[in-house]
Amino acid sequence: MTWDDILAIDTDDAAPLGERVNALFEQQRRTWPLLRDGEAALTHLQKRTLTADDGTIVVQMNPARRRSTQAKTDAAAVAQRPCFLCPQNMPAEERGVAFEDLVVMPNPFPILPGHCTIASREHEPQQFAPRVEQFLRLTGAIGPDLAALYNGPRCGASAPDHLHFQAARADEIPAFGQLPAPAGATSPEPVESFGRRFFVLRGDEIEPLAAGLQSVLAALSAGMADSADGEPLVNVAARCVAGEWTVAIFPRIAHRPARYFADGPERLLVSPAVLEMGGILVATEPDDFARLDAALAREIYDEVSISAADFALVRGQITR
Ligand SMILES: [Zn+2]
Repeated sequence: MTWDDILAIDTDDAAPLGERVNALFEQQRRTWPLLRDGEAALTHLQKRTLTADDGTIVVQMNPARRRSTQAKTDAAAVAQRPCFLCPQNMPAEERGVAFEDLVVMPNPFPILPGHCTIASREHEPQQFAPRVEQFLRLTGAIGPDLAALYNGPRCGASAPDHLHFQAARADEIPAFGQLPAPAGATSPEPVESFGRRFFVLRGDEIEPLAAGLQSVLAALSAGMADSADGEPLVNVAARCVAGEWTVAIFPRIAHRPARYFADGPERLLVSPAVLEMGGILVATEPDDFARLDAALAREIYDEVSISAADFALVRGQITR
């Protein structure tokens, strides 16, 4: 297939993006059994809510995510597989709608309702800094029901070689409902919750928000030795309600916790990406789901998040 084939149903480009995405999901449910089955499975997943003094998260048992959770995303493995975000490798039923040079397509293995992938029409590396303003425009256009999401190439993107965002139902991302009240300032606010250390930006204009995001990225790049691909490890989740953006940026120190690579009873196949950092911890194995309690979840979040010392350092370096 080509992008023209994928976009064949996207005929009314004057309609708002949110409406076109809704129509896309309806069309794909009618014509693509894999998506229908994926959405049906989502409605009866086992879930458990874990509550602590400083936050609430949800553990989800979702075996359909196994391939993604256990994906090898190192350069050698990626070079050997056909890119699933290039149209020639997509299922014949897959369709999408356009947003600028990106294409929004439903994810047939959803973690949340409305889960979609938003891929570049070019096969180009995953990189956030040049796309920050576009990400914020996308957040505004695809909201308010859906949040826009970004996974860094070394901390959750399953296609680090093909630029893409995601979107999913914003109300079901626990972190958005648990942020401290706005401080009134537009500078990035530090937040600590459930072992995670992250920054929140709020505002009603794209330009200052983009500047704030860039200042966080710059401070992270300066403060962390390991930025071989020019990008610090980050996941970003953003929503826009009535012209007000809320952006959470999660600096990371590791892609996967040590337990992921352990043998024996220590082994736990959790691979945190943006929705995990937002508070939906996905388990794909029944034993892992049974074991994941608040202490273990906190241990994992603490281990893959920026260290407390670096968090303090970066807070001091962000230009205001
Ligand atoms: Zn590709």
